[in-house]
Amino acid sequence: MIEVETQLARVLAEACPLPSDTVPLAAAHGRVIAETVVSRYALPPWTNSAMDGYAVRSEDVASASETAPVSLEVIADLPAGTAADPVILPGQAARIMTGAPVPADADAIVPVEATDGGELRVTITAPAAPGVHIRSAGEDRQPGDALVSAGSRAGAEVLSALASAGFGRIKVARRPRVAVIATGSELVAPGEPLDRGQIPDSNSLLISSLAVEHGAELVDVVRVSDEVAELETALRGLASRCDVIVLTGGVSMGAYDPVKELLSPGEQVRFEKVAMQPGKPQGFGRLAAPWVDEGELGPLVFGLPGNPVSAWVSFLVFVRPCLRALQGASTVEDPKLSAHADVGWRTPPGRRQYLPARIRTTDAGVTVSPAAARGSGSHLVGSLADANGYAVVDASIERVQAGDVVQVVRLVSDVDARL
Ligand code: AMP
Ligand code: MG
Repeated sequence: MIEVETQLARVLAEACPLPSDTVPLAAAHGRVIAETVVSRYALPPWTNSAMDGYAVRSEDVASASETAPVSLEVIADLPAGTAADPVILPGQAARIMTGAPVPADADAIVPVEATDGGELRVTITAPAAPGVHIRSAGEDRQPGDALVSAGSRAGAEVLSALASAGFGRIKVARRPRVAVIATGSELVAPGEPLDRGQIPDSNSLLISSLAVEHGAELVDVVRVSDEVAELETALRGLASRCDVIVLTGGVSMGAYDPVKELLSPGEQVRFEKVAMQPGKPQGFGRLAAPWVDEGELGPLVFGLPGNPVSAWVSFLVFVRPCLRALQGASTVEDPKLSAHADVGWRTPPGRRQYLPARIRTTDAGVTVSPAAARGSGSHLVGSLADANGYAVVDASIERVQAGDVVQVVRLVSDVDARL
């Protein structure tokens, strides 16, 4: 049996970042930025008004008050978007709107609330100190200042900063091309009636949806029986078109485990027992010739166990970091939070437990309870509907008691994550 870290290290050692594409910002949403970006523009690009009001020479209004207002001649009207830079002489002002460039001759803005709002002349009832209500060019970023580092995720905030800094397009990692193959002669399409012994194929949806949530482009989603020849045909059709192929089922010690039967002899894919529960049997490797042309880099292959909770955990622990690394993400593992167990539960001896869990965040802190009320089990697919994350319990712990502090990982889609 090997440790989870050993298996993950093997996976990450193979997951070199994919080449990048330059795409319009809108198409970059949720993707990983492949270059370190410095600002092209000063932010803001122009010294501009922070208020609707009047651009003035501050010395003209230094004495202004309710009882001794100052009257100035209004010589220009400056809406947002104007390029005008009118000369303002002593005794003059320009009406100005938020965001409009401040004339070079003005050094303060009097908010409209401190005036009578006049259009030809304006009466001002409060002083304005030099610089007040003015946003200086470059106060946020100067051209050349660091903006976004390579490996960060292009969430909404990053995209808005990039757009403001002068970019219309950005370099992002290519999406990993992923295919999913579910194996099992018992599987039927979701929604189909079941004969005795059959079950709906839920892993295809589970794994393909998770892959998309973690930045993948789906090449194909295939269901095959436990006939080795059928699996072989499916793999041959996909090997040269994918960066990653995720198989589920057929990796254990059974008599009809086609993934192991087909892929273990060449040793391109290694089958390990990993000290985790669920998810003990794991296949991982890279296909080479004869699956792909000699010299061509074949896809990474994951052979995940078929039980739905096992497949889910295995994806989250091994495939997800792999997809992130292929996209050049600077963070590939999830942050763990400490949570208080709402109830107690049993854990397996000698293996680290990954328990589908309901994690609640309240003002009082974070709490966690098993998603499956009636105990844990890798077949309890219905309980996945209640999981919004998982608890990670060390191999040395035999039982979690109510009130214990345990480590949890909350699930978020990477496409939304600000990693
Ligand atoms: P296996 O890893 O092939 O031995 O499968 C272990 C268990 O997971 C069996 O009970 C299978 O019926 C179930 N299983 C395998 N593949 C799927 C799938 N695609 N969807 C739902 N359950 C599956
Ligand atoms: Mg099977």
